[in-house]
Amino acid sequence: MIILAVGLIRGKEGIQSFELPKPEIQSPTDVLVRVVEAGINGTDYSIVQENEFDMPPGEDTMTLGHEAVGVVEETGPEVGTLKEGDLVVPTVRRGCGLCAPCLHGRSDMCQTGLFTERGIHKRHGYFAEYFVDDEEYIVKVPEGVEPLAVLTEPLSIAEKAVDEVKYIRAPAFWSCSHPDHSVESEGWGNCKVGLVVGAGPLGFLSTGVLRLNGVHTYVAEIVPEDTPKVQLVKELRAHYINVKDRGADDVIRETGYLDIIIEASGASELALNLTVGLARNGICVLTGIPRGRREVCLDGNLMARTLVRENQVVMGSVNSSRQHFILALDDLRSLRENYGPTMQKVISHRYPLADFKRVFEYREPGEIKSVFEVSEMEAIREAA
Ligand SMILES: [Zn+2]
Ligand SMILES: [Zn+2]
Repeated sequence: MIILAVGLIRGKEGIQSFELPKPEIQSPTDVLVRVVEAGINGTDYSIVQENEFDMPPGEDTMTLGHEAVGVVEETGPEVGTLKEGDLVVPTVRRGCGLCAPCLHGRSDMCQTGLFTERGIHKRHGYFAEYFVDDEEYIVKVPEGVEPLAVLTEPLSIAEKAVDEVKYIRAPAFWSCSHPDHSVESEGWGNCKVGLVVGAGPLGFLSTGVLRLNGVHTYVAEIVPEDTPKVQLVKELRAHYINVKDRGADDVIRETGYLDIIIEASGASELALNLTVGLARNGICVLTGIPRGRREVCLDGNLMARTLVRENQVVMGSVNSSRQHFILALDDLRSLRENYGPTMQKVISHRYPLADFKRVFEYREPGEIKSVFEVSEMEAIREAA
């Protein structure tokens, strides 16, 4: 059997469709999944724009897409955690098999760089009707979050960033006198002030995780306040700061000192200048990936002096592991309970996979998150 896939063909410009043989179960722990929805994100657009031919070895096509939800159609004889009919989400990175993090289920922290990634780096992705993978890389979706399950992968990126914040800063950070604000408690963020830079899907979801944990959160973007994505972050009861033609100083004047900054836009100059607005023991996590080259203007002495004197951390965070997918699925439930009508608006546009050209060639105004509807699934569509 042949399946439809969407991605890159070596030597051709732009997004293409092609046929692939339907993937088959090869090992006893493999799982065959029918894709129901696949999310489109900035990485996909960049790969297409830049014709990044990073195909699986020996192949001339690569299916894009690394955010998906699907239904298990078949399982290998030794699969223990999943069965036919389960709704599932796949992870993205496959470890190198050599380094300690990869051998302990943390390929997001791979030390060798020899990992691969579905739909991004040397492996076919999920803009296709089916995929097969080991059950180790496939997470069951709990009941009640089906309509939002396609957001699990981007949310897992935010979960990892916040998890790093909690555990790197735990010894110094939770020094307030409230017993229910310990690092292990849900309200750990209640005496903290945070800033998310960027109100795209990752910025929105990062804001969601901070708000669920009680962090008083600001969001910076360069669009007018009546833009749909700004309305969504405001519905999470975050405060909006329009940073168009404004610098880090203006932002810090409005927010005061910040315990947590999550950069989710790739705006490197603003992000780096904002670090001088960190509070004592504050932490700034960069998750946006700037493309190309850009020289920026910084007061290096001020930055280094502040980092040292105030015990601050500036770090990067990329990818996520199974544990972050599980946190994300848990938080999707809380987000739906606390901000149900808002969460319904996040997936703003849905397209059949056959409309791939239009999706990649024209961005709809007011777009928040676009997804491909690859096949039918009542639990998702009825509730959506
Ligand atoms: Zn590794
Ligand atoms: Zn407190």
